[in-house]
Amino acid sequence: MQFPLQVLVWNEGQHEKRNKTVQQIYPHGICAPLVESLRAQGYAHTQMVTLDDPDQGLSEATLAQTDVLVWWGHVAHDQVRDEFVDRVQRRVLEGMGLVVLHSGHHAKIFRRLMGTTCSLRWREDGLHERLWVVDPGHPIADGLPPYFEIPQDEMYGEHFDIPTPDAVVLISWFAGGEVFRSGCCFHRGRGKIFYFRPGHETFPVYYQKEVQQVIANGVRWAAPGKGPAFVYSGGETLHAAALEPYQAG
Ligand code: ZN
Repeated sequence: MQFPLQVLVWNEGQHEKRNKTVQQIYPHGICAPLVESLRAQGYAHTQMVTLDDPDQGLSEATLAQTDVLVWWGHVAHDQVRDEFVDRVQRRVLEGMGLVVLHSGHHAKIFRRLMGTTCSLRWREDGLHERLWVVDPGHPIADGLPPYFEIPQDEMYGEHFDIPTPDAVVLISWFAGGEVFRSGCCFHRGRGKIFYFRPGHETFPVYYQKEVQQVIANGVRWAAPGKGPAFVYSGGETLHAAALEPYQAG
């Protein structure tokens, strides 16, 4: 099946320059296996950009034609220019989908859209993670088994300081005893946001089939709807003329 969506994968691209382990696991970039899997799953128009690209990969023209933005960032959140964060926020409010991965929980754009600190507990122990599907009827659960395991990953534990999600699709359990809301859905304006936890840079998580499936499902779920056009008011309230003649009280 082919999906005519324009998918933009924002891959920060900094670990890949400095860290040999990351270079060995992801020679073409941390998100490269995701781009490949999205293309193979029918999202032929998937492109990858990085922080070092012109306009940090987030030009007005690029975002204007993006249906779903996938975001992976970690060490350079602060370098993302605020004007581009404003631009991405506006596009989400207009209906662009946003899929935020792993350490993107602390990205400026995610914190902006959540309005909370988005902090959590973490431990880089390389033990296994078990993800349970807790909303099996949700589109993001399509094709998944009741649970799946990632052999080695970083631990993220509760409390995860996010607003109560509109849906929680996956919950992780970690060998150290923690749990975490690993697949969370939100609505902001006309846009849909999916946060998905797995993906630490020193483990080959993004080659795993189930992980790739969740991300492809997340892209499909977050894709813009075909409802009436959204008028971005820039925060202004809109005066409305009455639709029918009536006697003002
Ligand atoms: Zn990590």
